[in-house]
Amino acid sequence: MTASVERSLRERHAELEARLAGLTRAPERGSGISFGKRVGDGTVEAVSRLNDVGVVDSLNASKERVERALAKLAEGTYGTCDVCSGEIPTARLEAHLESVVCVSCGRHARRAP
Ligand SMILES: [Zn+2]
Repeated sequence: MTASVERSLRERHAELEARLAGLTRAPERGSGISFGKRVGDGTVEAVSRLNDVGVVDSLNASKERVERALAKLAEGTYGTCDVCSGEIPTARLEAHLESVVCVSCGRHARRAP
């Protein structure tokens, strides 16, 4: 079971990295988005970049969860909630392999850093 979970997580991780690589090709990335400094063509570009940034953020968040799940596999704590140390139901893990918190902690901590 663990081996196949790890394989699936690694596949997912590779897929997320490939998508991120495609989205973050632009050389100037790093110090946030400069938005609204220019008008005209720049605005359109900024808007489309802003959308990309939203996608990149959510892909990065997914990638971090997958990385955390892989770390938990290595630690032997996979299937245990990172917040309350409670057991994560198998059904939840099967639906979301990268789950690192239980249902109720996930609900409460959705916007935690
Ligand atoms: Zn919990």
